[in-house]
Amino acid sequence: MSVKENLLEVLKEIPQGVELVAVSKFHPADMIMEAYEAGQRCFGESRVQELLEKEKCLPSDIKWHFIGHLQTNKVRQLIGKAALIESVDSERLLRLIDAESTKAGVVTRVLMQVHVAQEETKFGFSPDELLDFFSRRGFESLTATHICGVMGMASNTDDLDRVRADFRNIASIYRKIADDESLGLRGFDVLSMGMSGDWQIAVEEGADLVRIGTRIFGARQY
Ligand SMILES: *Cc1c(COP(=O)(O)O)cnc(C)c1O
Repeated sequence: MSVKENLLEVLKEIPQGVELVAVSKFHPADMIMEAYEAGQRCFGESRVQELLEKEKCLPSDIKWHFIGHLQTNKVRQLIGKAALIESVDSERLLRLIDAESTKAGVVTRVLMQVHVAQEETKFGFSPDELLDFFSRRGFESLTATHICGVMGMASNTDDLDRVRADFRNIASIYRKIADDESLGLRGFDVLSMGMSGDWQIAVEEGADLVRIGTRIFGARQY
């Protein structure tokens, strides 16, 4: 199966109203072009250097989503290049993104990454930390950052009940924030969950953005 065929299969399966991020990390520009020519415009990358190199040589109407752990010393380079930084995993990182965006005179759109999975290796706010951030209105002092929603990952396990419980947990945190009118948030309406192996469950649990790599581009060579 070609990239194009895989992509079209995936797009056929994804329900209306759910947006696809084609996760192109570790795959070369010509494979991205194949997906681009089949109509895909939104791609996901997990390393700043790789995103910048691809951004330079690929069409300018591509929307790049940053989905990896963002080191603070790489923030400045990424500002203005990513349509959405999905992986804001600490308040310190958020403040830095805001400071650099202010300096650059751009507004950066971000998602807050929440950690519910079993693995300790995954980054993100704990549910309590994230709810606390919003209840003490930590977003109010931001001047050039728009928090658009929440991103999360399920545990890496074959136990589908566990995967579903993780997605349900992430979705419920997202809903608690999105439905709290006293916060006065605007444009907080993105719930990003689901990868190649579990996106159907994520969509059933409310995801409206799915991040799919392997299913479209094949296995990655790290
Ligand atoms: C790599 C990655 C994906 C894509 O994973 P696949 O299993 O290849 O679909 C999705 N989300 C994040 C955060 C990733 O790092």
